[in-house]
Amino acid sequence: MVSAWDQPAPELNGDLGRSDLLSWSPEECVNWMRKLGQPDYRGDQLFRGIHQQRWSRWSQFSIFPEDLRTALAGQGNIDFPVITLNQSSQDGSTKHVFKLRDGLEVEGVFMPYPNRITLCLSSQVGCAMGCTFCATGDMGIKRNLTAGEMIGQVLGMLEHHRYKTTGRPTDTPLNIVFMGMGEPLHNLDHVMKSFHLLSHPKGLGISAKRITLSTSGLVPGIDRLGTYSPRPKLAVSLNGSQDDYRSKIMPVNRVWNLSALKESILRFPLGPREWITLEYVLLKNITDRPSDMQGLLRFAHDIPCKINLIPFNPHEGSGFETPSESRISQCCQILAQTGLIVSVRRSRGQDIAGACGQLVREED
Ligand code: SF4
Repeated sequence: MVSAWDQPAPELNGDLGRSDLLSWSPEECVNWMRKLGQPDYRGDQLFRGIHQQRWSRWSQFSIFPEDLRTALAGQGNIDFPVITLNQSSQDGSTKHVFKLRDGLEVEGVFMPYPNRITLCLSSQVGCAMGCTFCATGDMGIKRNLTAGEMIGQVLGMLEHHRYKTTGRPTDTPLNIVFMGMGEPLHNLDHVMKSFHLLSHPKGLGISAKRITLSTSGLVPGIDRLGTYSPRPKLAVSLNGSQDDYRSKIMPVNRVWNLSALKESILRFPLGPREWITLEYVLLKNITDRPSDMQGLLRFAHDIPCKINLIPFNPHEGSGFETPSESRISQCCQILAQTGLIVSVRRSRGQDIAGACGQLVREED
């Protein structure tokens, strides 16, 4: 069976812009400067200027001589995606809509907490996976995002919220989650490049432990992710503990069922004190029944994991409902009494359609 996710997702048409500097590593910046006859430290300054200072215009690079700025301006762009919409939620989170070079749009969500800031990034425009409870899945896949377009979401959100990057331990820690639009394992090359850039000490220096990638269960991608070191932490969007139901709401399960998924999780190389996050969306009368929780227990009992129960975030036309509070707490109790670490994750930004499964851009 050939599915949309068996095929590579379309890439950005390379003719749309000049050099995509946001996608470049420090080494690539140095190479560029060498070609221009500049010393290596100019490449480091370029990378730091973009990632730490968030300079997006050549005029801001006052550390460069004017003739160099003019030469650079003729050859490359620092294209931060343009923010076209900001929607603030009552819970403090903000959904941002980013317009990309080809006019397509993706969304990112800024979520402040007392002790950290979490940024939720999109990795693709649309998604090929077709999960029936997810607004993004309805869009189909348009194309992969480049690493620079993911970095642009981060820098754009930090700039919008005036987040200070001093490099000191007292800075509010940043967490990154690849849980926005798209299946990150369907775009792993660009996602890993952005991971490398986000964690680079000459850039934001975000610890690998603070970067999480969430997959719907693309087994070959999980295996491939396990070959990288360092790599993001793995979260698996499970959402069903019985094959018949999971196949109905997550078509990926028709190719890699729960047994294949579990095998891939068990062979995933975890470090000491590392666990996998199992995310489980509670859909009223579909995935929230006691029998579903028993199935979840069977799936999770021998996996080093934490379980996040996520009450469904309603969106127009989904046809699904949110379980009652008493049902949610019953699910939690069934799991917790066996010693599993379980929490109920109240998605942030529900009133602005910025919560899990609600991110979608309509075509104009
Ligand atoms: S839940 Fe994730 S993998 Fe599934 S369709 Fe939505 S964005 Fe894609």
